[in-house]
Amino acid sequence: MKKQKKTKFIDVKKVFVGFLLIFALLIVERNGIQYTTKSTREPILKTSQVRNKISIGNKECLYITDGTDKNCADLNEQFPHIFQDMRIPYETYDIAKSKMPDLSKYKIIVMNVKNYDDLGHDNVKAIFDWTANGGKLMQATPIFKTPVYEEFQEQLGIKSIAQSFYCLDSFKAKEGFMIGAQKTYPIEDAYESCMNVKLDDSAEVYATSGDGTAPVIWTKNLGEGKIVVCNFGYASKAYRGIISSAYSLLEDICVYPVINGSSFYLDDFPSPTPLGDGKYIRRDYQMDIATFYSTVWWPDLLKLAKEHGMVYTGLIIESYNDITHGKLPTNKDTSTYYYFGNKLLKEGGEIGVHGYNHQPLCLTNYAYKVEKYNKWENYAEMKKSIDIVKKFGKSLFPDSKFSTYVPPSNVLSKEGRKLLGEDKDINTIASTYFPGGDVYCQEFEIGKDGVIETPRIISSCILDDYMRFSAFSEMNFHYVNSHFMHPDDLLDVDRGADIGWKKLKGNFDNYLDWMNTSAPKLRQLTGTEMGGAVQRYCQISLNTTVTKDDVNIKVKGLEDSAYCFVRINNGDVSNIKGATLEKLTGNLYLMKVNKSKVTMKRMGAK
Ligand SMILES: [Zn+2]
Repeated sequence: MKKQKKTKFIDVKKVFVGFLLIFALLIVERNGIQYTTKSTREPILKTSQVRNKISIGNKECLYITDGTDKNCADLNEQFPHIFQDMRIPYETYDIAKSKMPDLSKYKIIVMNVKNYDDLGHDNVKAIFDWTANGGKLMQATPIFKTPVYEEFQEQLGIKSIAQSFYCLDSFKAKEGFMIGAQKTYPIEDAYESCMNVKLDDSAEVYATSGDGTAPVIWTKNLGEGKIVVCNFGYASKAYRGIISSAYSLLEDICVYPVINGSSFYLDDFPSPTPLGDGKYIRRDYQMDIATFYSTVWWPDLLKLAKEHGMVYTGLIIESYNDITHGKLPTNKDTSTYYYFGNKLLKEGGEIGVHGYNHQPLCLTNYAYKVEKYNKWENYAEMKKSIDIVKKFGKSLFPDSKFSTYVPPSNVLSKEGRKLLGEDKDINTIASTYFPGGDVYCQEFEIGKDGVIETPRIISSCILDDYMRFSAFSEMNFHYVNSHFMHPDDLLDVDRGADIGWKKLKGNFDNYLDWMNTSAPKLRQLTGTEMGGAVQRYCQISLNTTVTKDDVNIKVKGLEDSAYCFVRINNGDVSNIKGATLEKLTGNLYLMKVNKSKVTMKRMGAK
């Protein structure tokens, strides 16, 4: 009897457990499993002192330009950033303002001068004499064919030059010179911008036009010195990587900090899903928007992430109302948030803040140039909106920190920026790298308030020639990739809706293939981890000494580890201490710095 009773009790228990399981499964189906956020790869540092890209050491680089020549203006905007980001201490000589300084105290000269006659025959001669005596000269921009130029063109490795400039409509780097050199990069809106030259045999060419006819970057040894010519006439922010790569050919060994990170942002995700139909979604998939997002778009994105090893950072929006004062109603319809958000977190992603609604953090004093949004009535109302969306997010995803912020439509006012600095959770802002319209345009840097600026470089799935060139350039300048898109790109013709998701997905896949082929070991990071990587990149300063036998690098501001590019133009290195070196392509290496003193032995230097 007793035994039987016990069996019955066990049966009841089994049924009870069974019910519990079904109940649990139902909850899981409704809500998704609550996933805890993975430990971060690059946690934000708690540093006592903000060090933002400080160059140390002697100013041995002289930047020569002509402040009155409009043709030099674009590059004059880029060079301060290129020098700062590569940590090159430099002095400027503006030929329109003063006499040429004594060149003997410099090791490098970077010339952003297009008209040698304006610089003057004697000065040009002095610069080439200085080079022949062991100086490193970078002619950073194409030069006009003038009498003084013609007298010295041979010294630049040029045999002949046509009167008119050449229209450079594509760029191809020599294999082993740049990351991504497997591809030719078309140039959008190309114009006659580079010298139409034939080089002599003394020049070594590193990059050409896509068809190989026009030399774009070359080096030439002159006496004891070396010259790099960058015959690339475009000088916007999208081309910095061409200039930095050319610069890195100057010295025997060139070392500079890089970020080593890649991030993919999904704006307005999770957010309230639009009801009803999208014209092109209905055309191609015969379903409404909500069904398309959950059964096609999102599974496709997850598959791409798996195939290419990336993680997404979603930016949450609580409501699409446009209220900017008074009561901000809570969104009670949370099932899609759980569905998308939990899956995103499970796959190693992160959820950051986009806003309570899509009205940018701008007060009544803000003047929109292009966008037409409402303005928050006062600072307290604006602050409340951020507190409310964080509270909403934390109620859904309790383990999420909500430390990354992406401004709606990339618009952020001065007051909004201040608010983010005061927020105890937000430490990283991802707006955009390129200027335009109302956007909050960023550099990779740390603000005075310690907030980390991590601009997004490219967007959407159209990925035209300009985007692809920008991605290539930044891969070679900061060793970084940063991309964003929206689920509602498929509803907006400007963002490719009429092209259809199948083709857009193909473009995106093709881009990811390019990224994985070009930089297979680039670290895939969430928004906050990108913040940590940018923070480490900004914190460090380098003082590099290269002798005949050794390389010595003193690293300031190193907390745990950081990354640098190392270009070895002469000989090789061995016996590396305080860092590890990994080949990226040709003579370009990625160095992981672990100690504040790095040493290498040089071998085979000529
Ligand atoms: Zn948005």
